[in-house]
Amino acid sequence: MLLDPYNRAIEYVRLSVTDQCDLRCSYCLPKGFSDFQEQEHWLSFTEIEQIIRVFGSLGTRRIRLTGGEPLVRKDIDQLAARLAALPGIDDLSLSTNATRLEKLAPALYHAGISRINVSLDTLRPDRYKAITGGKLDKTLRGLLAAKEAGFQPIKINMVVMRDVNDDEVEAMVEFCLKHDFTLRFIETMPVGDTGRAAGKQFIPLHAIQQRLADRYELIDSVMQGGGPARYVRIAGTELRIGFITPMSQHFCATCNRVRLSADGILYMCLGQEHQYDLRPLVRDGISDAALAEHIQQAIALKPEKHEFQEKPQQVVRFMSMTGG
Ligand code: SAM
Repeated sequence: MLLDPYNRAIEYVRLSVTDQCDLRCSYCLPKGFSDFQEQEHWLSFTEIEQIIRVFGSLGTRRIRLTGGEPLVRKDIDQLAARLAALPGIDDLSLSTNATRLEKLAPALYHAGISRINVSLDTLRPDRYKAITGGKLDKTLRGLLAAKEAGFQPIKINMVVMRDVNDDEVEAMVEFCLKHDFTLRFIETMPVGDTGRAAGKQFIPLHAIQQRLADRYELIDSVMQGGGPARYVRIAGTELRIGFITPMSQHFCATCNRVRLSADGILYMCLGQEHQYDLRPLVRDGISDAALAEHIQQAIALKPEKHEFQEKPQQVVRFMSMTGG
């Protein structure tokens, strides 16, 4: 098992397969941004497979494909099938904006991805366009295709922003009730200039929880997945609502994850610079045993916590570069 210096077991890798994205969410990537990694810097499927195989041998059970937008990477279903087949990896999941799910959902499901998270900040087409630059109906079609394909659970991730979409919290609850989705609210984080600018619209999620408690009976709950969200359930329903509060109430003491960027850098923390470059090692044909030693050295660098409150200027890279 991989233990970090604070005795936390690291058993979860968030794997960014590309830093590219087909949307430009206001809090994530600047409008018109196109300064992405050269594709030849991306890890190949074989390089990714080796790194994840070694993580699996060190006790990692859970992998999440993310990005950028993971579904813009060609043949992503083939990579998913290769990772799902690795010994020890028993939970393969996906974070997506769903724009390409209408086409890809069945293949991804059959490749071995069982759980998906979909980013959806609004149910209004004009707002969707304003926040992401994309088309809401395409995303909704993708979401319904995922439901049809059999993904369970499907979690909706909504970044709640004051005067942008906070008036849609109840509408999103009703939408998730209707479709049997799980709903998670997320606080904006000061990651990159875009994330810092979005801080002006920051809302602590306890205010949203209080608002919902005035309308619904909320019961403390849990949810499969081992993530940082604190859950409640609406009494008389199966709807679970999660609150992800990196700013108002951080959860670093239970952090169990690291992030591998598309170009092979292992980031120990979303909010810190501690990193370890694995790409030159796998490109030079390192053995699995030697790679395991490097991964152990990398995990020894994991910091205790992020410092989003203390040092909000610290993280210059956009979320899409680390892998959200
Ligand atoms: N493209 C995929 C998606 O849309 O889910 C995966 C990558 S995206 C970067 C992962 C998550 O990060 C999304 O739910 C997005 O809303 C969230 N995110 C990006 N920038 C953020 C920020 N500054 N603060 C909070 N959440 C952010």
